[in-house]
Amino acid sequence: MRLDARQKQIRAYYRALFNAWGSQHWWPAQSRFEMIVGAYLTQNTAWTNVEKALANLRSARLLSLTGIRLAPLAELERLIRPAGYFRQKAKRLKLFVEFLDQQYQGSLKKLFSRPTEQLREELLNLHGVGPETADSILLYAGNHPVFVVDAYTRRILARHEILPEESAYDEIRKLFEQALAPVAESVAETRGSSKEYLAKGFPGAAHPPSAMSTAKRTALAQVYNEMHGLIVGVGKNYCKKSQARCDECPLQKFLPASN
Ligand code: SF4
Repeated sequence: MRLDARQKQIRAYYRALFNAWGSQHWWPAQSRFEMIVGAYLTQNTAWTNVEKALANLRSARLLSLTGIRLAPLAELERLIRPAGYFRQKAKRLKLFVEFLDQQYQGSLKKLFSRPTEQLREELLNLHGVGPETADSILLYAGNHPVFVVDAYTRRILARHEILPEESAYDEIRKLFEQALAPVAESVAETRGSSKEYLAKGFPGAAHPPSAMSTAKRTALAQVYNEMHGLIVGVGKNYCKKSQARCDECPLQKFLPASN
């Protein structure tokens, strides 16, 4: 498929999914730091386990920069245990705070005021931060306009014969970023309201509106934000690894003729 045809397809997916489900209200967090902690904890585990670990941190009053900085490592490990790989993740959270303290005087505001590409490189140099985690932090905590590629994105692209599943992360990211940029021009009209969201229940992978999901961001960051949430909705509910439930999926009409 030619590049412009692929981009057109992705724009059509966005419109079909957004019309079906509306705003997904990602990421569910009350602060930027809580979002970052969630991004580390969600690696290799289900979100329900992350919620338990976050609840433990919250009730111990440690879900803050100061909390993670001062918490003894063993205590941190105990609290985040439900998220799995808890020793590794506790160390990585401590390393993030150390990085923030040393490079940005503990200020997330200073961190996120860096140019996107430079900050992306810095995050990728941190232990335990791959492209998906780095881009999640950039987009959902920093409101930088980057698209987050995950396993669901790869699966959908492969099943729709747009790109092979093993394509390079940045190739997929750039394809989505370029495809969705024109959509941002009409985002004011397409952004779902809380009223619409409540009327539809919890479609796709929607979360209740939160301080982070309703934070001010550019139209471009808003569209990338929504598209990732919408794709998670497809992957979780229809495009499963073991079985594709195409008959009920909002993307069914876009399946290639060979399927
Ligand atoms: S479930 Fe079927 S229609 Fe939906 S995204 Fe997957 S392959 Fe496409």
